Amino acid sequence: MTMIFDRRWLLRAALITPGLTLAGCQTRLATSSGFDAYPFTLGVASGDPLADGMVLWTRLAPAPFEDDVLIGDQIVGWEISEDESFRSIVQSGRALARPQSAHSVHVEVSGLRPGRDYFYRFHCGDAVSPVGRTRTTPIIGAPLDRLRFAVASCQSYSTGYYGAYRDMAEAAPDLVIHVGDYIYETPWTLPVRRMPAPEAITLSEYRAYHAAAKTDPHLQAAHAIAPWLAIWDDHEVVNDYRDSHTPEGHTPEQWAARRRAAYQAYYEHMPVRRRARPIDGAVQLYQRAVFGDLAQFDLLDTRQYRSDHPCRGPLGETPGWVTCDASDPARTMLGAEQERWFGAGFGVAGAAWNLVVQTTQMTSYLREMGGATGYSSDRWDAYPAARTRLFETISAKGVANPVLIGGDIHAFYASALHGGPDAAPFASEIVVGAISSGGGGDDRYAAETDFYAATGRPFYFENRRNGYLLCELGREQMTADIRAVDSVLDPAAGSQSLQRLVLDRRSPGLA
Ligand code: FE
Ligand code: CA
Repeated sequence: MTMIFDRRWLLRAALITPGLTLAGCQTRLATSSGFDAYPFTLGVASGDPLADGMVLWTRLAPAPFEDDVLIGDQIVGWEISEDESFRSIVQSGRALARPQSAHSVHVEVSGLRPGRDYFYRFHCGDAVSPVGRTRTTPIIGAPLDRLRFAVASCQSYSTGYYGAYRDMAEAAPDLVIHVGDYIYETPWTLPVRRMPAPEAITLSEYRAYHAAAKTDPHLQAAHAIAPWLAIWDDHEVVNDYRDSHTPEGHTPEQWAARRRAAYQAYYEHMPVRRRARPIDGAVQLYQRAVFGDLAQFDLLDTRQYRSDHPCRGPLGETPGWVTCDASDPARTMLGAEQERWFGAGFGVAGAAWNLVVQTTQMTSYLREMGGATGYSSDRWDAYPAARTRLFETISAKGVANPVLIGGDIHAFYASALHGGPDAAPFASEIVVGAISSGGGGDDRYAAETDFYAATGRPFYFENRRNGYLLCELGREQMTADIRAVDSVLDPAAGSQSLQRLVLDRRSPGLA
């Protein structure tokens, strides 16, 4: 089912003389600075696959480290083909790239055949984009024996290079899932790469931060190899933000404007459907994707609707670790509407595997703090009633081995999930480590390893390496190969398999 990624496409694409000339897309692009350069500097991407189509994305960005420099609407041509040399073009069309969307293009293709590869590219005047490979899903319920997908999280551009994405592109999975922290709004630690602005606050700055990340050739390759399903966490906007609280250092008006800017830039740079376009400061991002009779993915937005952190200090700040009571059942992580949506649709396809994709860790991680039990104010430990409701919804469906997939913690983690200390396991949890963000080193490794070991339950924990998960679903087993990159300080670094986690469909936890 998976074809070998042929790197020659990209070269070939650059040599093709387009048969399609578009009067509306100027060969010499008119820009505010008189800029005249190749417009497809951010590559191409596809996402939100269905059985008959997906979204094809690109953005005209001749000066990617600046705000949108093009003037006026541009017409961008697109083609989608059954073969990589574009002899069998099945659809083509034109799309408007407009200043109000930073000259990004989101083409929602439909009418394709299910469960097969397609190749796509864009034109603008004489310029031709790189070629991307994408894939439709098999029809819901159709027999499917195997699905290969990658999972990524936490890719601070300033902190490290994206060697992990090179490995992912070479592995050529059928699908890539991103669980958030696609950008960080500030340079995070000792910078390896310079950001276009000291901090992303305005729309112009958020655009430049997204564009900077997408200039990375390995990230471009990972987008060009498979359709993505993406959800966000906090750093796409501001560290640890939540719905009902204005972060320190902002007036409510400043915060509303910043959040709107961040949401807009996210939409402009991700291969998401039009329903994810911000409307009145809100984005509909949570979604469900089904692959034949093998897998249902429910992707949750744990950031946009959540209640405030449980206890704040005198200046309105939240310490990272707290001990106060967070048990109020009114506290929500998903919001009432998303909880209802999840309850109504989880497991509905009757697939062999049901995967719940959310952004952080579900399993408790507690610390002793001055004789009290401390927990992270930003994780599910700070939303215990909401977590119990989610667990009860999952258990009540009685589906075979649900798998919860998370990220955010800059560590790889896996174990079984239990409803309580003495309850039987009802699901598995796998958390992906960071593509490039820092993992906290040996002290953290020792503390967390000791904590999980004390539960007496089998687990896997590793925070000292960066990388991603390369997963394969079969009828009876799921494997999650931890692909660790050798270094985030070297753009040419290779990757190795650090550990292969195996789940058995009929018994939760590590096999
Ligand atoms: Fe992160
Ligand atoms: Ca995060």
